[in-house]
Amino acid sequence: MFMTNDNMDEEAPREFQTETSCPSCGEKLYFIFYRTRVSYEEAVEIETFFCKKCLYKSSQIRPLESETPKKLVLEVRNHDDLRTILYRSPEAKIEIPELEAEINPGEISTGEITTVEGILTRLLEKLDLLDEEDVNIERLNQVKSHIKSIINGNGEKFTFVIDDPLGKSRINSSRVIVLHKSGE
Ligand SMILES: [Zn+2]
Repeated sequence: MFMTNDNMDEEAPREFQTETSCPSCGEKLYFIFYRTRVSYEEAVEIETFFCKKCLYKSSQIRPLESETPKKLVLEVRNHDDLRTILYRSPEAKIEIPELEAEINPGEISTGEITTVEGILTRLLEKLDLLDEEDVNIERLNQVKSHIKSIINGNGEKFTFVIDDPLGKSRINSSRVIVLHKSGE
């Protein structure tokens, strides 16, 4: 999904329809995301919220050169927070301590743009694939119904963590806490 060529010069923009409404006309906004090089070969990432109906646009540009290991932490407080858009790089690990759940890197070969809910759904799919002989079925079913009730909007709070050794992942929320890790 998120392809780069060897020198990361350019890539085709990726787009993703969000649940966020356009502030101008109320249509669902699109999230458009790409990497490019601007003057003097500085690689940047450009993220844009775009309304296809009224052409409202809001962009953010970030330099890519100074990426360091990072942990992104979001306290998911309610059902709306499940719609938070995120970019998970291929190197990133996801942890939800309250569910004792994690998704390791390597399960995706390229990065993905998804939402917190998308990750929970992926987690459920992953649990469905577990070999039932190797796990405590009762515990497994508990965890699965716990995740389902969160997806269905029980409003439960939990902590959503992306641990990214290359620091490329993003969580698109003003409440995200970014912990920089040094010495790794
Ligand atoms: Zn609009």
